[in-house]
Amino acid sequence: MNQTRQHPVKESHRQVVEAMNNNFRQLVKEATSCRLCPDLADQTAVLSSANGSLDANIVFVAEAPGRFGAGRTGVPFQGDRSGDNFEILLKHIGLTRSEVFITNAALCNPLADGNNRRPTAKEIKNCSAFLKKSLDIIQPKVVVTLGTVALSALNQLLGTRFKLSPNVAKPLATEDFILFPLYHPSPRVTNWKRPLAQQKKDLKKIPS
Ligand code: SF4
Repeated sequence: MNQTRQHPVKESHRQVVEAMNNNFRQLVKEATSCRLCPDLADQTAVLSSANGSLDANIVFVAEAPGRFGAGRTGVPFQGDRSGDNFEILLKHIGLTRSEVFITNAALCNPLADGNNRRPTAKEIKNCSAFLKKSLDIIQPKVVVTLGTVALSALNQLLGTRFKLSPNVAKPLATEDFILFPLYHPSPRVTNWKRPLAQQKKDLKKIPS
């Protein structure tokens, strides 16, 4: 019989990767059929292989898909000006989308009268199981939150009370990863609170 034997280390690595892919596929299925938030029931959750790499050391967590961005394209931070800014920032630190994973505190696009709105505390709580499972599958070294909503979602998961302004661009040790709070790259924030030039400097401080 001519059976090729895998090296035991390679074989166990293959099994880990397979389990990770299966778990993620299952999670995507659950998110796609999730109708937990009544106001978001007709929206599609943005969670798929387009969110990035399951092997990523860095996971970015933003607020929620935007109407012209991920809510339309199905790809986090793609299709609107926040996405354009995010791409500029990512490029600035020499990373590509395929090297990171990007997700949101709420996976569906919250709208009010056809415009983007912030996800409610209840919607973030409802969606926290998806965030936790994503982090459990990927096991990143660093979780970068983009904006106050994302930071509050992580606070909820971790049982912490970190505030954005005193902790911006500071590595915060948690049990499983380093938490790294940043401002959101939306034009509203880059124009009025944290210019893109400063955000570039903030991103450079992400622990390597
Ligand atoms: S935001 Fe999250 S919890 Fe709410 S319906 Fe969408 S996937 Fe479900």
